[in-house]
Amino acid sequence: MADNDLIASTRATLERIAGEFSPAVFASSLAAEDMVLTDLILKAQLPIAIFSLETGRLHPETLAVLDAVKAKYGYDVQLYRPQPEAVDAYVAQNGRDAFYNSIEMRRECCRIRKVEPLGRALAGNKAWVTGQRRAQSATRSDLSIQEDDPAHGMVKFNPLADWSEDDVWNYIRANDVPYNALHDQGFPSIGCAPCTRAVQPGEDVRAGRWWWENPESKECGLHIVDGKLIRIKPVAA
Ligand code: SF4
Repeated sequence: MADNDLIASTRATLERIAGEFSPAVFASSLAAEDMVLTDLILKAQLPIAIFSLETGRLHPETLAVLDAVKAKYGYDVQLYRPQPEAVDAYVAQNGRDAFYNSIEMRRECCRIRKVEPLGRALAGNKAWVTGQRRAQSATRSDLSIQEDDPAHGMVKFNPLADWSEDDVWNYIRANDVPYNALHDQGFPSIGCAPCTRAVQPGEDVRAGRWWWENPESKECGLHIVDGKLIRIKPVAA
């Protein structure tokens, strides 16, 4: 079982968000951390709507998590999809997988498939919640539980910032929380299918995301301010 104090403190954070920052939404990527928050939010029946970005490039295993959430909690995760005309234009001009060609092409694909839909999903809310943890990567090493998000003009909460990977999995197992089957196949961090691969034991948990780029570039734009990554620390050689 994850540490009881940690769980109690995370519950308190979620209750505070629901009480003081309504309307608030939870951006779920359907990864293990997100399933912990899903379980905490839905069991407590907190008024925090859960949504996910259906980029059109997700693994079938990731989409299957939506059915698992429906089956266990009777809850429909709201899906936000990219604008079809923007996807069509990108594919026609650059090719469907042009994100392998350059960081700019990758960021443009993420902008169309994730960032723009995220903006629609967040519009009108006071706060949003993510499943990010401090220990996940070099780009998240000084993540706070609560922070300002000037790019979206709201408050952003990372209630699991203090959780370790063991805390997450202990909670999932103890509470029989459904999770993405890819986690059992060497995928600690899961994004779009063409941009995610399995990692070797001991590798950084985000090493399988956009693996052809430098570690400093490995964010999808969802946590970028004024075009720059926020909260990056130099990566040790
Ligand atoms: S993760 Fe890959 S496929 Fe998904 S939006 Fe970003 S570049 Fe496109």
